[in-house]
Amino acid sequence: MKTLVLFFLIFLSCSQNHISISKKNNEIKQPSIVDKNGALSIKGNYVVNENGQPVSFAGNSMFWSNNYYKGNGFYNKKVIKHLKEKWKSEIIRVPMTADPEIHDSYIFDKKTNQSKLETVVNACIDLGLYVIIDWHSHNAHNTEKEAIEFFTEMAKKYGKYPNVIYEIYNEPLKVSWDTIVKPYSEKVIAAIRKIDPDNIIVVGTPHWSQDVDKASENPIIGYKNIAYTLHFYAASHKEWLINKAQKAIDNGLALIVTEWGSVEADGGGSVDSESTKIWMDFMKKHKLIHCNWSINNKDEGASALKPNTNVNGYWSEKDLTVSGKLAKKYILNWNKK
Ligand code: MG
Repeated sequence: MKTLVLFFLIFLSCSQNHISISKKNNEIKQPSIVDKNGALSIKGNYVVNENGQPVSFAGNSMFWSNNYYKGNGFYNKKVIKHLKEKWKSEIIRVPMTADPEIHDSYIFDKKTNQSKLETVVNACIDLGLYVIIDWHSHNAHNTEKEAIEFFTEMAKKYGKYPNVIYEIYNEPLKVSWDTIVKPYSEKVIAAIRKIDPDNIIVVGTPHWSQDVDKASENPIIGYKNIAYTLHFYAASHKEWLINKAQKAIDNGLALIVTEWGSVEADGGGSVDSESTKIWMDFMKKHKLIHCNWSINNKDEGASALKPNTNVNGYWSEKDLTVSGKLAKKYILNWNKK
């Protein structure tokens, strides 16, 4: 009898251990999107995973990182975890304010903006998401030295992680691709490539990252894993911009939509769901990666969250704006998870 009880106790303790171990393993071993795809690279028009297969991910862009714009409260791990779990976001873009015309941007307050950025980048690495480090400026060619210093530091810190993509110039304005944006990009790319030989670098294009066709006529050569930024706002940008994107693709470029909205280009106005659907079909067809602008509760059309929504990510459907709901629907279903 004693032996039987002993056996029973041993059995009980083993099976309990087994349950707790397998529970734990389940939590730890659920492979992330980065576990599944590894380091990304560019092959022709496509972003490909470590097995050379074209991949397309959907996710969110955060809002500008500077204090004055009041969107950086969302720069925390709880938000990123929520987006991963509830929106099935696979990629997060971190638009670090770096514009010399904004008084508390990185140019004047390196510490605040960089530490906000790194909080989100580190959260994405921990949670197994892809992450775009974005030099969020309309005037980056005027702060070339600062951009080179910053991306050199980022390459040293993050170049070994398969998660990271560098976006070196958010939206150039009405400046020349050939004489302004391309030379700037080549210098920043050279600085990154001195340290990090392989992570993808996305290059901005003139007119708010719309002139991808111009870039395709005079692309950057001599470096691998270079992609080009295309931005669209569905209520403002229609067939003419799709045609420019198509031309760039036909000319051999790989595009990444690091920012899109379903509203007007200034972030306001209401949702154009019909035009958004046309864009989504276009991105699906060409396997483009995309990030929705933006995770913020500012009172404007492009914000995914209603005013006063908490910054900790415990959001219900009623916290989402019309554009937030639409973005969530597309992100959640992008890879049919
Ligand atoms: Mg690398």
